[in-house]
Amino acid sequence: MFMVTINQDKCVGCASCVDACPAKILGMVDDKADVIGDAADCMGCETCVGLCPNECFTIMEL
Ligand code: SF4
Ligand code: SF4
Repeated sequence: MFMVTINQDKCVGCASCVDACPAKILGMVDDKADVIGDAADCMGCETCVGLCPNECFTIMEL
């Protein structure tokens, strides 16, 4: 199981992660990326980590 953390202070609101997440758990809330789906569905693929222009994501394996 993986835990996704988003540093919203660094989020520039590009929404790239929302479209790319294969688990479809990311969304935009007040122009910041957030986990809006079931966080337990995160696959740990780190697609979000790779594409975020501002290193907002941290993925930890639990
Ligand atoms: S690690 Fe993969 S599944 Fe998890 S939030 Fe990022 S893109 Fe989505
Ligand atoms: S890719 Fe990064 S900067 Fe863009 S919306 Fe997602 S968290 Fe924010």
